Amino acid sequence: MPEVKMIEVKDVSYSYNGKKALDKISFETENEFVAIMGPNGSGKSTLVKLIVGMLKPDEGSIKVFGMEPENARDLIGYMPQRETIAKHFPIRVKDIMIMGASSRRFPTREEMGNAMEALQKIGMKHLWEKRFSALSQGQQQRIMFARALAKKPRLLILDEPFNAVDVPSRNMMVEILKEEREKGTEIIVVVHNINPILHQIEKVVLLNRKCIAWGKPAHVLTPENLKETYGADIQIVRCEEGYCHPLIGDEHAG
Ligand code: ADP
Ligand code: MG
Repeated sequence: MPEVKMIEVKDVSYSYNGKKALDKISFETENEFVAIMGPNGSGKSTLVKLIVGMLKPDEGSIKVFGMEPENARDLIGYMPQRETIAKHFPIRVKDIMIMGASSRRFPTREEMGNAMEALQKIGMKHLWEKRFSALSQGQQQRIMFARALAKKPRLLILDEPFNAVDVPSRNMMVEILKEEREKGTEIIVVVHNINPILHQIEKVVLLNRKCIAWGKPAHVLTPENLKETYGADIQIVRCEEGYCHPLIGDEHAG
């Protein structure tokens, strides 16, 4: 059975105020677990915003399940990078979860159930009635993770999901991603530190304004490609699978 392309990015460029954040990016994914890697400011968040249809490319095209990104929104569960979330917005956890599960003004019973189930999965059902702004950073991040799961999406896009969470929570999130992948959900994760998902990823996109390389980890994660992506100073670790990954600041946290 030929796989439908999950995402097709062709010659995509995007600038903020005339300054190029992405320069002629091209890659494809098909039903797999993808990691987008690159240093700070390399355009990772810009790329995922283009894929979810929040931004429009200046040049080039993006297709998601063969559609324009804005038409694929109901199929995508998106978790924005924590820094971009309005943390003080006076809203309750349940409202965030329901908005994640449903795009309707009046959600169905099933959608309400999905919202609760997603919160339960991440062990936070007791926070249903709580104000989002009263929660810790790690809790907020887990809520946003659960929100991305709540609509049972075909494609999950997570922008640095592990940043503020503690190790047990991170492990729980990784387990949930494994289950999602087994169910056939396509997953794109932007990561700074690849370690937590090292054994799950099936494709890597290395980004530094340009797409340095993309494909299977063993082909892409070479010392040469990593040096080109992260600069000469980065320390590179070789792992058992025979490929390399950069050793980045918080690597020892887990
Ligand atoms: P990453 O997620 O890899 O850290 P971003 O996609 O957030 O990178 O940013 C890529 C580049 O675009 C950076 O130089 C950043 O400063 C710039 N940039 C991102 N968002 C904006 C914005 N809203 N306005 C102007 N410049 C931006
Ligand atoms: Mg980012």
